[in-house]
Amino acid sequence: MTLDQLKSPEKLEYDQILLVRIGEITLKGMNRHKFEQQVVSNMRFRLRDLGHFNITPSQSRIWVELDTDDTESGFKENSTRQLAVIERIKAVFGVVSVSPVRRFSGDIKTIENQAIAYTKQLLADGHSRTFKIETRRGDKRFPMDSMEISNHIGGLLASQFSDLLTVQVKNPDFTLYIEIRDHIYLYSSIIKAHRGLPSGTGGGGLLLLSGGIDSPVAGYMMASRGMKLEAIYFHAFPFTSDQAKQKVIDLAHLIARFSGRIQLHIVNFTDIQITLRDQCPPDMMTIVMRRMMMRISDQLAEQRGLKALITGESLGQVASQTLEALVTTDQIATRPVFRPLIGLDKDDTVTIARKIGTFETSILPYEDCCTVFVAKHPKTHPSLRIAIESEIHLDIEALVKDGLSKIETLTIDAFSTSSPEAL
Ligand code: ATP
Ligand code: MG
Repeated sequence: MTLDQLKSPEKLEYDQILLVRIGEITLKGMNRHKFEQQVVSNMRFRLRDLGHFNITPSQSRIWVELDTDDTESGFKENSTRQLAVIERIKAVFGVVSVSPVRRFSGDIKTIENQAIAYTKQLLADGHSRTFKIETRRGDKRFPMDSMEISNHIGGLLASQFSDLLTVQVKNPDFTLYIEIRDHIYLYSSIIKAHRGLPSGTGGGGLLLLSGGIDSPVAGYMMASRGMKLEAIYFHAFPFTSDQAKQKVIDLAHLIARFSGRIQLHIVNFTDIQITLRDQCPPDMMTIVMRRMMMRISDQLAEQRGLKALITGESLGQVASQTLEALVTTDQIATRPVFRPLIGLDKDDTVTIARKIGTFETSILPYEDCCTVFVAKHPKTHPSLRIAIESEIHLDIEALVKDGLSKIETLTIDAFSTSSPEAL
């Protein structure tokens, strides 16, 4: 992603303090403190190559202060650095929104001056705008109440910039927020983040990651519930090309921007796939292959201490995703198989894939091992009995052992290899 793409249409003020709002972690029954700590530590880790920061949690909010004298961050401009920081913070699960804020202390006179200076910057492009003021007064000792402050500052700005500004309460072009707490805070943009629960609070899952549209979205969704991900990919060279493998590695990088570091296990599936082709009925090939992937995944999950499997399946989407087909694969797994897309329309999945930036990579046209050797008319409603009978000639234990012995594991860390400005 380039920095240009990062710039929101609304010009971001350069203010060195970021107000980060955290969400669901305040839910009843959850250990709020622990979750807050987890968001903070995930945030520290994600920002580690972008310079020095002061990160301070306080009352369901986290303040991130950029050290502006930081010469080691690799950024020429503090404003571009801030955009990069915001982009990283948005992708930390548990964060609801981010605002660059201006912080100061003082009285109503100070607010007037700051609000004028702030608005002047916002209007620097000379376009006229509608606006409103929203004030929150946490410190009740402040002599004016919220409504009075809003009216006062709103009136002042409207007269000060009478040629460019008009008050409009419903859907204004911008809202100037004033918060009075330990300090006074001024901001106008609330940048939405990905919400969810912080990574590392939801146990570990093994994502069956193919190069398609669905499984990266499934991984993102489970990671958004706090799951730490590892991923497994079944590669069948030369039936599937090195580009197909690279595509999966690239997708893992894209998911890791949200989930944090991923161990990606690449299984050399070629010999197994040839054995299945030679020894199983062609119309059952897809199901038998699925079941074999499940067995290997289930055992790998056991070895890695991962408590669930995750796939990108959606009911009825393709022949291998009928209820009967899903039942035959479920029977294999000794742990829950999470299919977060099970009730989604493909359109909805595509919308999420676009939002998280995996779509463009997913649609690159490289073969998946599920599409080679597949019969013209696969059985779409296989009974469990037929599935088991199809495997009668297989030495299943030996095949699983073979698969597990041919694993290459890569550590996928979204940011460590890139220079700070190349997000
Ligand atoms: P996707 O878009 O995720 O590729 P799909 O719509 O192509 O899914 P299938 O080919 O039936 O559907 O695959 C269903 C699920 O099985 C995938 O979402 C993925 O979780 C898993 N899967 C399929 N092929 C592989 C593979 N080569 N390696 C790992 N997992 C796979
Ligand atoms: Mg696929």
